[in-house]
Amino acid sequence: MRDKECIFCKIANGDIPSKELYEDDEFKVILDLGPATRGHALILPKNHYANLYELPDGEASKVMLLAKKMAGQMTKKLGCDGFNLVQNNGRAAGQTVFHFHLHLIPRYKDDGQTLGWKPLEPTQEELEEIKKIITE
Ligand code: AMP
Ligand code: ZN
Repeated sequence: MRDKECIFCKIANGDIPSKELYEDDEFKVILDLGPATRGHALILPKNHYANLYELPDGEASKVMLLAKKMAGQMTKKLGCDGFNLVQNNGRAAGQTVFHFHLHLIPRYKDDGQTLGWKPLEPTQEELEEIKKIITE
């Protein structure tokens, strides 16, 4: 299941070379070409799914197990001080490549990167309202 125009389909299936850290039947892990930090990598499913909404349950559960394994290995080998998992869905969320991927971002003390947000200050009523919208 590939998209002919998709760069991550080409990378995940070996049509375009990449710096591979890991491969199995369903996934490839590669170094990001525009890394946030030293060792920033991406988990790519070999099948084309545009985003998390399209990712089937099987791959969705396996991707977290693989992230855990890679985070452990990368932390040990790189000696990083922390680790972010980042996964963007949709342009509004910062997605630029529309083939599902999970960012593996090793963090180093004083690495100068910020992946944060400015906290809003909702009232209890607003939180209650959002809770209802999502759960009812
Ligand atoms: P996102 O903004 O979540 O869609 O992330 C896309 C990521 O893909 C960015 O961090 C890019 O640096 C990275 N990227 C784009 N093209 C390539 C490529 N050919 N090889 C490796 N990483 C890439
Ligand atoms: Zn693709």
